[in-house]
Amino acid sequence: MERIELIHIITALFLIRFFYFYIIDSKAISASFSDWIPFAFLICANVFELHMTDFSLFKLSLSFTFLSQTVVTLIGDKANKNTGLVVSLMAFALLIGLLVLKLSIPVMVINTLLIIASASQLIILVTFYQSKPSRAALEVMEVGFLAFFGGLMLSVGMRFFNIAIGSALLIFYALMSLAIHVKHYKEGLRLVQTRLTDLEERFDRTVEFEAKKRTAHMADKVEIIREKSQKDPLSKALNRQGITTEINSMINDSSMKMFSLAIFDIDFFKGINDTKGHIVGDECIKLLAYTVMTTNRKTDVLGRYGGDEFILLMPNVNAPAALEICERLRKEVHDKSNPKFTISMGIASYPFDGRTFTELMESADKGLYIAKENGRNRVVYEGNVPILKK
Ligand code: GH3
Ligand code: MG
Repeated sequence: MERIELIHIITALFLIRFFYFYIIDSKAISASFSDWIPFAFLICANVFELHMTDFSLFKLSLSFTFLSQTVVTLIGDKANKNTGLVVSLMAFALLIGLLVLKLSIPVMVINTLLIIASASQLIILVTFYQSKPSRAALEVMEVGFLAFFGGLMLSVGMRFFNIAIGSALLIFYALMSLAIHVKHYKEGLRLVQTRLTDLEERFDRTVEFEAKKRTAHMADKVEIIREKSQKDPLSKALNRQGITTEINSMINDSSMKMFSLAIFDIDFFKGINDTKGHIVGDECIKLLAYTVMTTNRKTDVLGRYGGDEFILLMPNVNAPAALEICERLRKEVHDKSNPKFTISMGIASYPFDGRTFTELMESADKGLYIAKENGRNRVVYEGNVPILKK
């Protein structure tokens, strides 16, 4: 193969390297941005009248390429894409100057320059090792040895052996550095893809976690509002709506086999209000609710149905047991209330005295009415379950 063809191959490969680094993998090494010089030089060589052989010109352009690479590498971290271009443009302008001035540079000088430029590839190597660059850059720099030997071979003589080996080394150098970069570029892309997927997953998890947290927070708030909306502020028992909901949900709960409820109110409460005032009346309501809530089981539910009227809901309690519980309660109020007051109570039991809220209320109300009729301060059950008199 003619040496000129070899020059063209090297030039083309260097140009490919330039495009690759400049366009695809621009973060790789800005030093390689001077790789376009030999190609530009070949073009100029056809435009200007030559006072040097093509081969000498090629060696000169290769020297400037290598030297620009070294300069950019020495600039180090501050070098960017444009630094590579600026330095290579300056080198190119120098070459053009030589051509325009029609200066004939002795072959000796050109060869010496190429030796120096090739040796400077070793400077790049040392600098990169010291600055701990990426694995890709290191691998490319390692093949920089090929550039060094290739340049050296071209500069030490005109024998075909030198030129063939030198060109082969340079071609090998350009191909290897490209292959290494393409490999690492692909790896980099894969890494970016993996990181993106990882980030997406993390984002999804965070959003899900936040959503759950907010939902839980909202649920808590709803629960608080629901509780507040169903509480009677004076007695701290459930209000009418609250106790009605409780009873209905108990009726609808298929696992609930039985329960009892008691309706009760304060005897002659109007009289307390009239003689002692409404504030004392309020205290009586509070005291009654407090007594019931502290005397009874935790599972029992107390609700203020309206005025001085309360409902006590007793889950899993049958009519006889409800009678006993209410009797104990009535006595407690009778004995401990201050100011003194008594209560009357009517009981109903699910499902024997009714299967609906209204039926149960009617049955319990009947008991309360009879309790009032029979002189108050008593508990009456007027339902269907037979009660053995003790
Ligand atoms: P009975 O023995 O038949 O129940 O006679 P009573 O005087 O208690 O009659 P009733 O239960 O019908 O009277 C309820 C009274 O309770 C009427 C109303 O003035 C009073 N009242 C209702 N709500 C309140 C309240 O929040 N505070 C006070 N202090 N009084 C109330
Ligand atoms: Mg009353």
